[in-house]
Amino acid sequence: MIPEVAFFNVLFTRKVRILITSVLFCISTYAYTNTPSQERKEYGNLEKETMLLLSRIEPGVAGMGKVFQNKNYPEKAAEELLIYFRERKTVRHLVERFSAEDSTRNYATKNDFSIANNALKHIFASQSAYPPSFCGDDIDWDSRPVPDNEWIWQLHRMYFWNSMARVYRQTRDEKYAREWGIQLLDWIKKNPNDESHKYAWRSIEAGIRGYSWTILFQHFLDSPSFTPEILVAFLNSFYDHAEYLMTVYRSKSNWGLMEAEGMAFIAITFPEFKDAVKWRTEAFRRLNNEINLQVYPDGHQRELAIGYHIGCINWFLRTLELAKMNQLENMFPPSYLKTIELMCEVPMKLGLPDGTNAQFGDAWAGRPGQHNNRYLEWAKMFSRNDFLYIATEGKQGSKPDSTAFALPQSGLYSMRSGWDKNATCLVLKCGPNGGGHCQPDNGTFTLHAGGRTLTPDAGSYIYSGDAENRAWFRQTKVHQTLTLNGENSQYAPKLLLWKPEEKLDVLVVENQSYENLAHRRSVFFIDKKYFVIVDQAFGDAAGDVNIHFQLAPGKEEAIYDHVNNSVHSNFSEGWNVWVESMPQPGMELKEELGQVSFEYTKKEPRPAFSYGIKKKQEDAEARFVTVVAPYLGKAPRVQVKVINGNLLNRNELYLEIIENGETKKIGYNL
Ligand code: CA
Repeated sequence: MIPEVAFFNVLFTRKVRILITSVLFCISTYAYTNTPSQERKEYGNLEKETMLLLSRIEPGVAGMGKVFQNKNYPEKAAEELLIYFRERKTVRHLVERFSAEDSTRNYATKNDFSIANNALKHIFASQSAYPPSFCGDDIDWDSRPVPDNEWIWQLHRMYFWNSMARVYRQTRDEKYAREWGIQLLDWIKKNPNDESHKYAWRSIEAGIRGYSWTILFQHFLDSPSFTPEILVAFLNSFYDHAEYLMTVYRSKSNWGLMEAEGMAFIAITFPEFKDAVKWRTEAFRRLNNEINLQVYPDGHQRELAIGYHIGCINWFLRTLELAKMNQLENMFPPSYLKTIELMCEVPMKLGLPDGTNAQFGDAWAGRPGQHNNRYLEWAKMFSRNDFLYIATEGKQGSKPDSTAFALPQSGLYSMRSGWDKNATCLVLKCGPNGGGHCQPDNGTFTLHAGGRTLTPDAGSYIYSGDAENRAWFRQTKVHQTLTLNGENSQYAPKLLLWKPEEKLDVLVVENQSYENLAHRRSVFFIDKKYFVIVDQAFGDAAGDVNIHFQLAPGKEEAIYDHVNNSVHSNFSEGWNVWVESMPQPGMELKEELGQVSFEYTKKEPRPAFSYGIKKKQEDAEARFVTVVAPYLGKAPRVQVKVINGNLLNRNELYLEIIENGETKKIGYNL
C-alpha cells in the first residue's frame, strides 16, 4: 500500500461521510530537547490517579456536582465522572457517539477487520509497507522489526486502535473494546514522556494521538468495558498530551499543524480541564499563524509535496469544523476558509488527467480518481461547480475555466489539452526549497497522455533506514532536468514568462542551478499536442552538461536511435512518447540507470537517458532543443531550428518548427 494512511472515517454530518486520508509520513531529522518535566505517576493506582485528575478539572462545571461531592472517595468520584461523561450533551464532535438509529453497516473495512483481529493478538500494523509484527504477549512498545524508524514512530500512532474502534462500532463485539482498554492502560504505563521514551513522544505522534484519541473516546465511551479506571488514565494522558504539545511548536511544517490539531481536539472535546481554554487559544493562534506562514499566495503548502499539501488542508479544516460545531468558529477569520479553498484548487490544477499526482518530492502518484471523494465534499463546502466536475469526472458541474495554471510562488505549472481523461498534460516544477520533503529537481516535469504517465517522477522510495537509496531518488540527475557534471542543483528559481494561449502555451523558467551555471528552460506546448523544450545553460562553468529523461516502466524496452538522437517508449497498447534532441556537434545520447518507486519501499527499473555536451568555460551557452511528443499509433515527425536574429540576445528565442512538412515560427522576446 502506498504511504497513505486512512484516518478515521469522519462523520461531518450524519449524512455525509468523507474518507479522510492523509499522508503522514514525515521525516524526523530533528531531536527535541525541551521535554517538559512531568511528575512520574503511579499508574494502576486509581485513587491517586483520580485525585490527580480532579486537581486538573474545573470544579464548577455543571453536572459535575456528584463527582466533587465524592472527592474524598476517589473510586466513587471516578464512577461519577464516567456517568458524567456518558450523560454529557454539551460537547459535539466530528464523530458522533453511538446511537440506536445509526447505521453502522460497512463502517469498518475488510482491512480494518484484519488489522483489528491481528491487534487482538498483539500483532500490530504500523507503517503499511511492512507486514504487521508480533510485539509480545507482554507488549514491547519499543519493538523494531525493521531498520526503518518510521515503523517505531508509526507504531506509537496506534492506527490499529482506530481499526479496532471501527470494527467495535460495527460489530459491538466487546472483545475489541476490552482489548483496546487493556492496551491503552499498558501503553500509558509503559510510555512516560521521558528521555528513554523519546520514540513514543515525537511531537507529531503526540499531536496525531491527541486528535485520534478523541475519536477513540467517542467510540469506546459507551462500552461496558470502558471502566472508571480507563477513563481516569485516558483523561490524565490527554492532559499530559496537551501540556506537552504546548511546549513544542514546529512552525512552517506540517508537524506544526498536527501538534496544534491534537491540542485543539483535546481542548474542545474536554472543556472541563482547567487549562482547556489556554490550550485551545494557543492551538487556534498557531493554526491562524501557520495558514499565513505555510501557504503561498498561489495556494500551495510550502513543503511542495502534494500528499502533505492535502494533509494540511485536512489539518486546517478539521479544527475549524470542530470549532464550528462547538460555537467557536469566531476564532477563525473568514480569510482562513478562503485560504483553504485556494488550497483545495491545487490538486485540480496540478493533478494529472486520470486523477493521479505528479509525484514530485516525497509524493506518490496514487490511484486514478483518488481525489474524487474529497472534491465532492469540497464542492459542497465551497459551492464550486468545477470541484463537482472533478469529483464526478465530468458527469456533473462545469469544467475548470482554464487548461493552463501557474502557481508562481511554489514554482509549479500545468499545461493540458483539455479535461477529458485522455488529455495530454505536462506539469513542471521549478520552485523554492520546500525543506526535507522537497527534492533538488528544479526544471523537472511529468508528462501524461492518453491515460498513461509517460515520464513519471522517480518518487522517493523510502524515508528512513536506507540512506543510500533515499539519496539516490533525491538526485537531480534522476529527474528530467539539466545537470552540470551530474551534481545536485540548488534551488534558485525564477519565472521569466507564462503565456498560455489557445494554440500555444509558453513557459520560461530559470534556475541558478549551480553557482556558475543557470538553467533556463523554455517549454512550448504546440497546438495542445506536443512540446518543444529549449534548455539553455548560461555561465562560465566548464564540464559535462546533460539533460536527463526518464520513461515509464514496462516490459517493452524503449527504442534508442543513436543516429537521430531519438528515444521512444514502445508500449504495444496505448500511448507512447517520442523524445528527440536536435543534432549539434559533440552531443551524445547516453543510456542511464533508471528506477521508479510508486510505493514505499518498492522500486523497479525503467528507461532513462541523457543528452550531453562538453561545455568549455569560454562557451557563453550550452543549448539543447528537444521535441517531446506523446502519441498514439505513429509518432509525429517534428524538426526544430533556432532562428534568432541575434544569438547573443538572451531575451529572445525564436524557433522554426517543421511538422509533417509544414513550417511555422514561434518564439518570444522577454
Ligand atoms: Ca522526484
